[in-house]
Amino acid sequence: MDDCIFCKIVKSEIPSRKIYEDENILAFHDAAPQAPVHFLVIPKRHIRNIMELEQEDISLAGNLLNQAQKLAAELGCAEKGARFVINCKSDGGQTVDHLHIHVLGGRFLGWPPG
Ligand code: AMP
Repeated sequence: MDDCIFCKIVKSEIPSRKIYEDENILAFHDAAPQAPVHFLVIPKRHIRNIMELEQEDISLAGNLLNQAQKLAAELGCAEKGARFVINCKSDGGQTVDHLHIHVLGGRFLGWPPG
């Protein structure tokens, strides 16, 4: 999508600190980290939010989670854990309308989030 900031990151039209990339998935550090580890895992295809995942996206959704878990472990979160978050639409606090999993770790995170 032309005006989507994450699609622009996928196309390298704007810079990002990439952590992982394959044919369908990209992971990069969040520009405004809320924890020592804070990165995003996104599908390269523009899917606006988790509500728009279709039946045929089940394998993609599984791969996004699998990659989020692997990268969290690689970035030092295996022992103490991390938080895996998907914000959705206005009530969910989503500000970028391109599906993404936040992975936050490296410190204790309280609940509920502030
Ligand atoms: P959300 O509020 O769940 O939609 O999360 C959007 C996230 O994208 C926020 O944590 C932002 O800090 C992050 N973000 C926005 N623009 C960029 C960018 N250009 N590079 C990396 N992260 C970004």
